Amino acid sequence: MLARSTVDPLRFAHASESITGKVPLAKFDRLVDGLVSDQGKVQFRLQGGADSGRPVLRLQIDAAVTLRCQYCLEPYRHELRIERVLPLARNEAELARWERDDPLLDALLAVPSLDVLALIEDEILLSLPVAPRHLDGDCGGVGA
Ligand SMILES: [Zn+2]
Repeated sequence: MLARSTVDPLRFAHASESITGKVPLAKFDRLVDGLVSDQGKVQFRLQGGADSGRPVLRLQIDAAVTLRCQYCLEPYRHELRIERVLPLARNEAELARWERDDPLLDALLAVPSLDVLALIEDEILLSLPVAPRHLDGDCGGVGA
């Protein structure tokens, strides 16, 4: 489990700190709401650093979740591998400027105390398919 669940993201980035951990899926309330099962673990690595002169957090997440196929209604295993580079804006104005310059940039506001588990949960939620479906060929639905 985690030694600590919050970090000061700017300090974390400047010191090139890293945290790795394994967290039971059941710890993520919002995520589990959308899953067939809360069994399983989320493995992650959070690494501080710099990119293009900006402090960043690099987040890597590996997990397998059970979703329900919207076509055949059977549960299936969905493997997640997420790798994100999240630039840290020092304030709202900087965040707004970065987003204006690059709407696809995934910047975070560097709050003094960042909840690592909430960040992981957000990234997993963002990566889940809107309409879960078996891969072609694996689906037992009519007409598959
Ligand atoms: Zn299916």
